[in-house]
Amino acid sequence: MSDPAVVTIDPLRPKRLFHLREGNDAGVLDLEALGAEIARRFPAGIRRILFVAVPQIAEEHFVFDAARKRRYPGFPPYGPAVLVAMVEAGGIQADIVDLHLAVLDHARSCEQPEQFSYAVWQGVLAERIAAFRPDVVGLSCMFNMGHGPLKQVASFLGANFPALPVIAGGVHVSLTPTMVLEDIPEISFALLNEGENVLQRFLDVANGRASARELASIAARLPAPDRIVVHGKRDAPTQLVHSPDYKALPIDRYSRVGRIGAYTFLRSDEAVAATVLSRRGCRAQCTFCSVRSVNGEGVRVRDHVAVVDEIEHLKRRYGVSHIMWLDDDLFYDRDDAIALFDEMAARKLGVTWDASNGIIASCLNEPLLDACVRSGCVGFNIGIESGNREILAHMRKPGSVERYLGAAELLARYPGIFTKGFLILGYPTETIAAVQDSVNLSLAMDLDWYPSQILTPMPGTPVHQLMLDQDASSAGPADALGRSTKLGEGRTFSIGATGSIAKRERSEREQARPFSNPFDGPHDRIPAREELEDLWIVVDYRINYQPILSQPDPRKLEKKRLMLAEICDRMTSDNPLGNLFLAICELRLGDLAGARLHVDRAAEHLQASAFWRLRFEVLRIDEVLRDTQRRLSLAA
Ligand code: SF4
Repeated sequence: MSDPAVVTIDPLRPKRLFHLREGNDAGVLDLEALGAEIARRFPAGIRRILFVAVPQIAEEHFVFDAARKRRYPGFPPYGPAVLVAMVEAGGIQADIVDLHLAVLDHARSCEQPEQFSYAVWQGVLAERIAAFRPDVVGLSCMFNMGHGPLKQVASFLGANFPALPVIAGGVHVSLTPTMVLEDIPEISFALLNEGENVLQRFLDVANGRASARELASIAARLPAPDRIVVHGKRDAPTQLVHSPDYKALPIDRYSRVGRIGAYTFLRSDEAVAATVLSRRGCRAQCTFCSVRSVNGEGVRVRDHVAVVDEIEHLKRRYGVSHIMWLDDDLFYDRDDAIALFDEMAARKLGVTWDASNGIIASCLNEPLLDACVRSGCVGFNIGIESGNREILAHMRKPGSVERYLGAAELLARYPGIFTKGFLILGYPTETIAAVQDSVNLSLAMDLDWYPSQILTPMPGTPVHQLMLDQDASSAGPADALGRSTKLGEGRTFSIGATGSIAKRERSEREQARPFSNPFDGPHDRIPAREELEDLWIVVDYRINYQPILSQPDPRKLEKKRLMLAEICDRMTSDNPLGNLFLAICELRLGDLAGARLHVDRAAEHLQASAFWRLRFEVLRIDEVLRDTQRRLSLAA
């Protein structure tokens, strides 16, 4: 076991990494060296700080057409805006610029790809620095997909503003600090985990108000000898007293240029959405989740009146009519959650909400769901992950098959709430039989949709370590999903199943690689990694599409129709499966014109794709297509 004062948070272990230990001379020495380095970089202290949200999509992955169709996420930078409020309360001037918004905004304003330049953020950043004249720039990077842009922005700053120190924070930086510092020499200090106390301590040391021994959760590059130190000691948990101060950021632009949450299809294109946090942390400790690694143990709850004040402010100032909760455990302290929702209802804000980050199913009861409905809930995601008891136990999931079924029974009485159940495929030791359990549970719960993901372990999570151990003897190349088979050496950037399958489909349009239904073979085997995409397709078909054929409830069919319209119109328009089942929903709901349009599209896209033709044949979806065409010709 490691020293409890030290958290070994980065599994990538560079050659010259020192983890500081309290009471250890070398550690104390390095803490003093850390203080000396802060003093050297900030001889006049820090009076002005500029927070910068970096672009979240790397230039090489940025698709102009996807941005034009608003397919990329566009979240206001909530965390940095809270830090703005906090440092200003302490007398330091702060400002904030969002380069992700700058790129999305520019893409939306261009008619043609030739007019678009990803580098638009450079001018926005240079202008802001010239106007604000900060003493330090704080880069914020939330997702590992943002690593490339983080590096690009830091290099730009190093080349154009070499005297301006750069620090970094955010979830990605917190989970992989040594990788970030090794790869991006322009970043001098990485502030880890919850930003508030850590940044305050850093500013106090830089401004001579505190000793370096008070620093916590910080990593840095130190000279002589050249080394990276990680001080993993956690600071005290932050009490959530500050609401975000977005300065001049146009909060009403975000939902016009990007997506906020998983329920955009339930509101009009003109609706203005934003995000709000009422709780930080999660009571659970699922092995694949980074929430505890970053936020520490337990849950902190904001004063519910302050939370509703924040929503009211968003409504009055920016016209916000929908919020997505950023919470990871929204229903923690159920009585307080009900008080929060009742306060929202009492103020008659006319604001709807969703919990796209997921809720814990075992918290649900009637009084809570009634309060959800009263306060404008339109949908939430439930983290199911698996229908197999052993896998749920391995995952340390706070749920059981019985609780999930009980939650589904309760939710059936609330048809106004769109419910989605998250599933994970490819967990270590998961057999085909265990996946079959997930399919059976999903069908029994009959939620409105099931988004599923192939497990891509995030560095810093227990399952990542488990897979590192399993793969210790393997030195093979990256697998089909871009997951290195030697994970410690791979930089595991998350690739969703849908993204990688769309890529594969494009490469197999002319000639498809062999495909078979994994459920047709023995069920007691663990599928190989290269089988997971095909397994994902079959599971997705069986839990989301096939049940439409026998769904008797028109309200449920209407929900499926809305979801499929979102998939076909905005996400993957050339997908024959989505178009076929959209047509079936429309046919069953009496929209013959819509059904004809989409069945024709399904046939057309199928004709163009050997990848899909093979899957339609093996899964006998081609019979469903022919039957739908026949019914439509009879209805003519
Ligand atoms: S319940 Fe959700 S947020 Fe909480 S640890 Fe598990 S996956 Fe993470």
